[in-house]
Amino acid sequence: MGKAWATRMERLGTESAFEVLAKAKQLEAAGRSVIHLEIGQPDFATAPAICDAAYEAMQQGYTGYAPAAGLPALRQAIAEQVSQTRQVAVSPEQVVVMPGAKPVIFFTLLALVEAGDEVIYPNPGFPIYESVIGFTGARPVPLPLQESVDFRFQIADLEAAITPRTKLLILNSPQNPTGGVLTLDDLKAIARLAQQHQFYVLADEIYSRILYDQVHHSLLSLPDMAAQTILLDGFSKTYAMTGWRLGYAVAPVAIAQKLEQLMINSNSCTASFTQMAGVQALQGSQAAVEQMVSAFQRRRNLIVAGLNAIAGISCRLPQGAFYAFANVQLLPLDSNALADYLLEQAGVAVLSGSAFGKYGEGYLRLSYANSAENIQQALANIAEAIARL
Ligand code: PMP
Repeated sequence: MGKAWATRMERLGTESAFEVLAKAKQLEAAGRSVIHLEIGQPDFATAPAICDAAYEAMQQGYTGYAPAAGLPALRQAIAEQVSQTRQVAVSPEQVVVMPGAKPVIFFTLLALVEAGDEVIYPNPGFPIYESVIGFTGARPVPLPLQESVDFRFQIADLEAAITPRTKLLILNSPQNPTGGVLTLDDLKAIARLAQQHQFYVLADEIYSRILYDQVHHSLLSLPDMAAQTILLDGFSKTYAMTGWRLGYAVAPVAIAQKLEQLMINSNSCTASFTQMAGVQALQGSQAAVEQMVSAFQRRRNLIVAGLNAIAGISCRLPQGAFYAFANVQLLPLDSNALADYLLEQAGVAVLSGSAFGKYGEGYLRLSYANSAENIQQALANIAEAIARL
């Protein structure tokens, strides 16, 4: 027998958060205690009203197939929510509901790009972008983020990365792994380039509600950008619903139809009762979201102050999401080795910046979606282990 898999599988990457989590669980199974700062999920439970809505929906018979692009009630609720938050008229036909936001990335790339195309994406960035761009056969073109400008990119660097083959630009704001946020001026410059060079933009705004002391700006709000933008958002982070698998795309209708066709060919639909829970999440009280975000803000301040107090580590104040991206370039280990060392020697699981692309080398990502108590303990353990280096 020859090799079992298709060549395209050799171009597909992975998301190391899941691998590090597995390694940390192994250590725990062997009796070691580990503080988990590696995985990007809120440590809050889904609000009871949302769970109740799912159960009621099951009782009402929402247990069969739904339309591939989503239940009309949820598409409508999303269209209203996005129209309001992005100040642009969005119709339900533009909305495609999916089992999580990740499939929005996968399907948008499958639908839009192929060999010969180039896709520009933030680096360090969510590793799935580079992975799936490569999978489609298109060329991944990294756009370096810079610590000196709070992990935004220079517009000149974007301009230099654009060629006649550029088909798509991926943006992520607030950003994973850095917590960086694009400014309105950045977005205006990006819109000008997208219109001038006629490429599409996948705007990953999954952290749009997890933002500190500022308002969220979206590319979709800028004049005429709705025709060129695929907005990604979802319920995983905002409503602490990572395991429910519920996300969505808002796209020009012709593209939305292609995404729907990919849904028909893969998932058929997103679970019906999950979608009804999504309607409740959008239309019910937002108090739990506000409480969660203020808890994240307190923990952000705690972890950043703690990291800056450790010799050899410096960390900027992230503006959004729930990650601290700490500079460890003064320490004697590369970021992979340092992440391994901290897991083994400090019992703290963190991610190496290089897991987010080549420009992430020299940094660690620490998720502060964990209790203040655990964060404090993790900081003490890290400080102690680093002093021994
Ligand atoms: N985009 C970014 C930037 C993310 O960090 C994540 C989750 N880690 C996703 C998309 C995927 O979200 P979901 O869990 O809803 O698939």
